[in-house]
Amino acid sequence: MNAYDSEVAEGTLRAAGYEVMSEGDAVERKSQKVKGEKRGQAYEQNELLPVPFFAPDIILMNTCSVREHAEERVIGRLGMLGKLKRTNPDLIVGLMGCMVEEHREKLFKRFPVLDLMVGTRNIKQLPNLIEQVIKTRKQVAQIKQDGISIEYTELISRKSKFHAWLPIMTGCNKKCTFCVVPKTRGTEISMPADEVVREAGRLIREGVKWITLLGQNVNSYKGDVCVGAGLKPASTFSELLESLCHLDGDFRISFITSHPHDATEELFRVIAKNPKISRHFHLPLQSGSDQILKRMGRQHTYPEYKRKVDRLRELVPDIAITTDIITGFPGEAEEDYQATVNALKEICFDGAFIFKYSARPETPAAKLKDDVPFAVKNQRNHELLKIQKQMTDDNNQKRIGKVSEVFVEGLNERNPKQVIGCSIHEKKVVFFGDRLLVGAFCFVRFNEIKHETFIGETTK
Ligand code: SAH
Repeated sequence: MNAYDSEVAEGTLRAAGYEVMSEGDAVERKSQKVKGEKRGQAYEQNELLPVPFFAPDIILMNTCSVREHAEERVIGRLGMLGKLKRTNPDLIVGLMGCMVEEHREKLFKRFPVLDLMVGTRNIKQLPNLIEQVIKTRKQVAQIKQDGISIEYTELISRKSKFHAWLPIMTGCNKKCTFCVVPKTRGTEISMPADEVVREAGRLIREGVKWITLLGQNVNSYKGDVCVGAGLKPASTFSELLESLCHLDGDFRISFITSHPHDATEELFRVIAKNPKISRHFHLPLQSGSDQILKRMGRQHTYPEYKRKVDRLRELVPDIAITTDIITGFPGEAEEDYQATVNALKEICFDGAFIFKYSARPETPAAKLKDDVPFAVKNQRNHELLKIQKQMTDDNNQKRIGKVSEVFVEGLNERNPKQVIGCSIHEKKVVFFGDRLLVGAFCFVRFNEIKHETFIGETTK
């Protein structure tokens, strides 16, 4: 969702006449900087370089509040930008994203370096806010949960010609006790189904070959369908997927994120019968212990989760399933942790994101004692990563010798006679192929794997 929001911010700023720089561009610019260069350049955050040592006029950070660590990094950067601002007082520093929703105007007091803040539902206001800062040099913010939640816009700078994010719903009505998302993104709002289908059609006509549907919980999508003057009952996520598959053209559809409680058999059946739908399913488990799942407010037990995964695998045998796990949730005893170890081994996911629990302000779990020592969280995290690596390797080995549909994303920078693609299970593969294949689908046999990248060859 943040990647999409950044693309909207960039497109909106470009349309208002701003030039948007990547960190790399900015470094080069510094050496060529011309006197009197037009003011009002924005800079795109690159995670890799720690300190901006160049001179854009505006620095905007898009932030995430899901875990404490993400926030700490932003806070560290704000400190560094304070120093930069002492040498360049005209610099404008702005924040967008969930940290803004979470802390709101309080951040202005704590960080005088901040000039502007824009909420997740108000991104279009960025040019106005910048103008206000330039005119008044006062701290300005637009953070309104009643702003437009999703609005399809052609003012978007997509990172890829072929791939597009397409938000279909935002917000979350679940009450996972660890999670800050309901606070930062608000309650669920879905886009009307006919608008989603229209926008997807437009993207496909524009040459997009792969659309990722976005939502905090896509499975609980409920979009009104307008028919003539009246409204038909709201369309479910499965119905929406079906309608999208009926659009003409060669394209792939994937989606994130699902919730085990709402991922239904009906959805699995729609995936099974539609080859345009990605064979990758991300289904956060969080813990293998029912006691912990209950305290997390997850609305599923481990056996229920396992039954869903088994059914999904029955209906879509080649599906790649990935998950999220939290280690060290309050009260996680050794046996709870062992239940998660067993779950990872039993389910044998294709991949898992494993996070150390951090209390988020005003979430129900923040009231519980964060009683698992950091060292234990850390150790469990490391062990789970190790186990998961073995599971991922086992799964990947099983794919060797098999043929998969692959979307060709670009040339292999290391060997321009090769192309890089992403399989229908969202596995990376390189193979010898003509550059004309870029942007097209083809069938590839997976011959071997090196560092989690398959090496393959095209087949007829
Ligand atoms: N349903 C959401 C989940 C977003 S958060 C969505 O996809 O939009 C992604 C993952 O971060 C969660 O699945 C969970 O594993 C992890 N997470 C969320 N809150 C956390 C916390 N307080 N501490 C550690 N990890 C957390």
